[in-house]
Amino acid sequence: MNGCVPPLTIHLVAEHPRRRPAFRVPYNWWWREGPVEPSKAVVFDLDGVLSDASHRQYLIHGARRSWNLFFDLCGGDAVIGEGASLLEEVDEGQRVVLCTARPARVAPQTLDWLERNNLRWDLLIMRDHGDYSIAREYKQWSVEEMRAYGFELTMAVEDDRRNLAMFEEEGIPSVYVHSGYFD
Ligand SMILES: [Mg+2]
Repeated sequence: MNGCVPPLTIHLVAEHPRRRPAFRVPYNWWWREGPVEPSKAVVFDLDGVLSDASHRQYLIHGARRSWNLFFDLCGGDAVIGEGASLLEEVDEGQRVVLCTARPARVAPQTLDWLERNNLRWDLLIMRDHGDYSIAREYKQWSVEEMRAYGFELTMAVEDDRRNLAMFEEEGIPSVYVHSGYFD
């Protein structure tokens, strides 16, 4: 329509004095309490490591699969106690990044779940809108973005061996958690 001006969208880019000048914080990053100073960080997966997704696994197996419903139900997961304990053991001087292949549309449920369960984290990274890449590729790009921000990734905790192999290729020591979802 002539003369129709689209609504102005302003994206606030988190500023930090020590971040690299060219680095723009991706829109699929959520800070718990605002941007943190680049430092050492540990990367935790969510499903199968901190979040017990076993009650919804049936939705992605068998003839009638629904990834949408599988992710929609994430707010009802129980906490995996061992994963939560491991999270608490992370040195105070390190940051905690939660990097999950869950789509960004379930960010509200995920943020609410983290709050309700009082889990420690600093940055949540979710698969961006329109990103249908395989989890391993998405996580590898996220590693590049975390490093570009200035994070020194000291450890990754994962239940998917394909992601684990990627972290190891990237030179990040990795801890395998057996969720039973993949093998
Ligand atoms: Mg997982």
